[in-house]
Amino acid sequence: MLDMQAMRDRLETERQQVLEEIAELDRRLEVKPDYSLGAGDPAVYQWEFNLALRQQAQEKLEEIEDALRRLDEGRYGICEKCGGKIEWERLDLLPTTRFCATCAQSKS
Ligand SMILES: [Zn+2]
Repeated sequence: MLDMQAMRDRLETERQQVLEEIAELDRRLEVKPDYSLGAGDPAVYQWEFNLALRQQAQEKLEEIEDALRRLDEGRYGICEKCGGKIEWERLDLLPTTRFCATCAQSKS
């Protein structure tokens, strides 16, 4: 049984965590390293690494917000490709997925 309220709570919690993660990364990214040291310098490497994490977190945030939007619009848990119901087990593992297991496998 798909408990929409529980799923919404879960997504909201995840959203909050990602927002905190982004805020923390933004703080670290404020101080730009000295690029004249070269890309191999640990400070430059760390900064680039944080930037990559920041981009990942941003993508995750967008996926979560997209899922919350689908919940609002009553489209959550419906496969965007075939219109069928997404397996509950799958949503439990991947709360932001937009496709059922069958459609996700046939990437076309
Ligand atoms: Zn499908």
